[in-house]
Amino acid sequence: MTPNTRHRGDRLCPMADARATQPSEGEREDLRRDLEALKRELHAAIDGSAQDAQPVELDQPAVGRVSRIDAIQQQKMLEANRGAQRARLAQVNAAIDRFEEDEYGDCLDCGEPIGFARLKARPESLYCIACQSARERR
Ligand SMILES: [Zn+2]
Repeated sequence: MTPNTRHRGDRLCPMADARATQPSEGEREDLRRDLEALKRELHAAIDGSAQDAQPVELDQPAVGRVSRIDAIQQQKMLEANRGAQRARLAQVNAAIDRFEEDEYGDCLDCGEPIGFARLKARPESLYCIACQSARERR
């Protein structure tokens, strides 16, 4: 075993202080791993719930009226849930694409760094907090 004492990204960046809120190289690696994990999780969740979301069999005599209504409501919730998961997966994919463009971590609207704390909580964030809340008010 050869001890690996070289650390990539340890080089001091002269811009480090000016762009203090931008994630460091190590933090970006961390966030990218989070994104890949999230992508796998969402894929698994969407595939798994697809089996539960078969059309409700309305004519099935063994199923009582109340449980049919339950089943329909449950299915609607699953559908909504899956919709949300699909939307989140699309965001995750968009965020991973932005890594390739080397634009990850910059707000799509104002171009300012989104900030590591926010990205750590939601690595698929495409907007800074200010722009995100502005969009939600629209
Ligand atoms: Zn912004």
